[in-house]
Order: sequence, then C-alpha cells, then structure tokens
Amino acid sequence: MKLVSFSDTRTSSFGILEGARVVCLPTLAKVVGQQVPSSPEILIEEGSYGRAETLLQNSTRRELETATYPVSQLRLLAPIRKPPKIICLGLNYKDHAEEQGKTPPDEPVIFMKPGTAIIGTGENIVKPDFVKQLDYEAELAIVIGKGAKNISIEEAKSCIFGYTILNDVSARDIQFKDRQWTRGKSFDTFAPTGPCITTTAQLHNPTNLRIRTWVNKQLRQDSTTRNMTLNVFEIVRHLSRVMTLEPCDIIATGTPAGVGFAMKPQPKFLQDGDVVTIEIEGVGILRNQVRGE
Ligand code: MG
Repeated sequence: MKLVSFSDTRTSSFGILEGARVVCLPTLAKVVGQQVPSSPEILIEEGSYGRAETLLQNSTRRELETATYPVSQLRLLAPIRKPPKIICLGLNYKDHAEEQGKTPPDEPVIFMKPGTAIIGTGENIVKPDFVKQLDYEAELAIVIGKGAKNISIEEAKSCIFGYTILNDVSARDIQFKDRQWTRGKSFDTFAPTGPCITTTAQLHNPTNLRIRTWVNKQLRQDSTTRNMTLNVFEIVRHLSRVMTLEPCDIIATGTPAGVGFAMKPQPKFLQDGDVVTIEIEGVGILRNQVRGE
C-alpha cells in the first residue's frame, strides 16, 4: 500500500493512496467507530500499520466512500515531515562514480541533511541568489520501521517500513568549495520527498527499480537501483553498525548518472522556473519547481 500525508483547506491528515483517490484513515476510523494513530509517524513507530490494513479490509464500500477523496482535491505533503534523521549516501551508484571519472568506493560516503530541508511534492525548491550551481539528485529513500543497531542483512529486511523518493538537491559551487557537503546540501527546501511511502509488502524487489529524472521535458537520469554498490539491505546493515536507526529515519541511497554538473560538453544547472520530475518504478512521481529566493 501507499501511505500519504495531505492537507485540505482546513487540516492535515494521512491515508492510503489508491490510484487517483485517497482513503483518509482517521476519517474511516471515526466512521466505523475505531481508532487509528493520529499521524503516519506514530503509526510507523507503533508498528500499527497492520491494524490500518485490517480497518480498510473490514470496512464496507459505503464506509470507504465516506472517507475517500480525489487526490486532485488535496495537497500532498512530505510523507514524513519530522524524521529523526535523514542519512544520505554519496557515490553509491557505479554509473554516477564513472561519470565523474572515479572508481566506486567499496564503502559509500555517509552524510546527513537536516529535517528543515524537507518539502513535499508540488512545493518549490528555493534557490538563494548566491547559489550559482543548483543541481538535482534522484534517490530511492528507505523509511525505517523498526529501531536497529548492529543488525544482519536478514534483519535489515524486517527493519524497513517502505520506500519513498528523495531529491538530494545540491548547491555544487558550495559543496565543492567547502570540500565537505553539509552547507551545500542543507538549505531549506533541499530535501523534497514523496509523493508517498510504498510499503515493503508492495515493493517486491527494491534492488531492481527504474529511476528517472526529467528537467522540464528533458530526460536527464535513467538508471536502475541494480547499479547501486550497496543495495538497500546492505545499506541498512552498514549504517546500523555506525548509528542506531530509529522508526521514521529516512535514508537516501545515492543517485545514478546524469546529474547536471557531470553533463557533457558542459554542466547544466537548475534555473528559476525549472521543473524537476523524478519517477521511481513502483513508488511514484515527485515533482518540484525551482524558484529564486
Ligand atoms: Mg546524493
């Protein structure tokens, strides 16, 4: 299933995305006289997703209709708005290392982004005036479901709640000037995520998903998660040997070839008005427009 956060004119809530419609879980629970957690974060932390599934399965068509809205009438929000951590991997795709003339490292670089960088699909990426080399990076993002420390690859499989998309927006001029990545990747709005979290039960093979990026109508990235150096399960194991993973942590798993700064014959950076669209097979489409500050 696909878990979404959304707001209408009055309030924010969450539910299950089914095609072009959203079943609002708190509304459905109210209609049938049951209770669900008040946010997707609590649902994930409590491990009560199964209860939500049962609620859906046991509801009548009429009850479901009362709690269902066309997605076109809602504004989707980032599915997790306050993750405990956003952990990112650098140089985790063989094709992205190659486009920079680098040998893929046997252990990818780890860095972090602040939660204040998160926006949802449809929101603007804000480009400060002094950023001259704004770039995109399409990434499959893991959402952690269960706390984990020093786990095996087998255990990693059961610690993942699901997957979303994260655009690791980067100010290349600042990233390369500083020679470490915190400032260049931490501006507000530099972590668009969404549109939903596809649960592990629905995404059978996260190690072989097509991942594509368009800037306006131009296809820039077209790869597969098969090109990762460490796959999603190896990543979770690897990170759990460093830090305790917690429910709702987001892990961005690196980007494939085709980023703007590596384009030939010359780099192509994002400009005011550009629209970045990322599609990952089985997960969805994340779309954001760039706006000058
Ligand atoms: Mg990245």
